[in-house]
Amino acid sequence: MATGPPPPQTCAIIGAGPAGLAAALALRKLTSIQPTIYEARPSPSTMGGAINMGANALDLLRYLGINGAVIPGNRTNKMEIFSLRTGSKLGEMPFTAGPQGEPARRMLRADLQNVMLARAKQLDIPIQYSSRVASVHDSEAESEPDMQDPKSRGSPQVTITFTNSSTISADFVLGCDGIFSAVRRTYVQPDRHPIYTGSGSGVAAAYTVLRTSRFPSTLPTHSIVAGTSTRGWSLMSYCDAAQTQIFAAVVLPLPRALPETRKGQTQQDWQIYRAGEDKNHNKTNIVNEFRSRFTDAKVDCVRDLAAIEGLDQDLYVYPLLQLPREGRWCKGRVLLLGDAAHAMPPQGEGTSFALEDAVLLARIFATYPCHPIDTIFTTYEKTRRPRIELAWKETNNRSDDARPSSWIGQIFFGWIICLFLWFRGGSFGNRFFYDVRQEPITLI
Ligand SMILES: Cc1cc2nc3c(=O)[nH]c(=O)nc-3n(C[C@H](O)[C@H](O)[C@H](O)COP(=O)(O)OP(=O)(O)OC[C@H]3O[C@@H](n4cnc5c(N)ncnc54)[C@H](O)[C@@H]3O)c2cc1C
Repeated sequence: MATGPPPPQTCAIIGAGPAGLAAALALRKLTSIQPTIYEARPSPSTMGGAINMGANALDLLRYLGINGAVIPGNRTNKMEIFSLRTGSKLGEMPFTAGPQGEPARRMLRADLQNVMLARAKQLDIPIQYSSRVASVHDSEAESEPDMQDPKSRGSPQVTITFTNSSTISADFVLGCDGIFSAVRRTYVQPDRHPIYTGSGSGVAAAYTVLRTSRFPSTLPTHSIVAGTSTRGWSLMSYCDAAQTQIFAAVVLPLPRALPETRKGQTQQDWQIYRAGEDKNHNKTNIVNEFRSRFTDAKVDCVRDLAAIEGLDQDLYVYPLLQLPREGRWCKGRVLLLGDAAHAMPPQGEGTSFALEDAVLLARIFATYPCHPIDTIFTTYEKTRRPRIELAWKETNNRSDDARPSSWIGQIFFGWIICLFLWFRGGSFGNRFFYDVRQEPITLI
């Protein structure tokens, strides 16, 4: 046991999304560190579509003290993949794991956030809303000669300034503020910006959540229906236990003809899409594009979706972004977690990764309470990288770029998907077996 600095006592968590809430719950569970969460929005966000949570992520929620009975969402046993061109089923991927074959769940992000917030409230974890980070200052990291002085490491030295000019200090800071992280942008690595997914053209995603009563066709109760084609793919499922709501998402590889959706999209542009506003008619263009590609789809629910009246009003359109793979996660006493560190294209585990990050970090603090924070963070990063790297490779191997749409190209594409599902589809559920609580930790 090292005889270095006293254990840290206070932690400022920036962002009350899944990563920030999980970090606060995990630190409370495993350590004596007192976290305070600072969130930019004035109140919890009700925005967002549905996210997937595998059996291992559901287990982590229970581990963090969230009663299994209140965990929201619709049980999903598998994803069934259909050809949008022919309607034939190409294969399926299991979404179950664990000894009992526990299914994954598809739940609204807002519903997940609510149960996590309720647990944080039970534990009296303070959350300060309307606190948007403007800058971060770590006096220790910036005064080189003192860096090795153990005494100076015990006192709160990271200072956060918010856009309303107020400031706070803490022993260390966790940047859980999402893909556009201000903590990353202003402190950890200012030159690491979100980039477009896909290597050549842009990729846009659109999602909507519809009342089941508005939708003419029914969906399989406990599976996700995915449609694939050279012109884009779709994903639909119920997203609440009572099956009163349907989550529908489409991903469209877009040609360069839609200039606003090219690589290098700015945060501001993304927010405009997210807010559902129509900038230079691009939202309308994308909705029209979706309709033209999917009105003749041979999968009923997708065709029905394209035909819904007023869909433009309900559809949120946004470009799919990710962070460049190589990148810094920590600097001094500041560490990035969740999307702020490793946002990826959608792969069904983004939120699970955020939960895992939080639990692993808390485990390291619990195992080495008297070690310098920079050592804890380096150990965290070294331990966490391999799993994130693997996921990054898997998602980026799947190209979402526009593909040839000649009939021969489409047939070939269907075969490739079939073969892939035949060889690899069955092993998809393996990812939901990973348990971050068993990850060995070796101090760096
Ligand atoms: C409104 C919203 C809707 C989303 N919808 C979907 C969806 O439909 N499907 C999906 O798969 N993923 C969605 N995501 C992303 C998904 O939540 C994340 O990929 C994943 O859960 C990882 O969570 P995170 O906590 O790292 O990041 P996020 O969920 O992005 O949470 C980041 C939090 O930090 C806050 N924040 C941002 N900047 C600052 C700042 N400067 N100061 C203080 N706080 C700040 C944000 O308001 C947010 O609460 C959404 C994210 C948001 C914010």
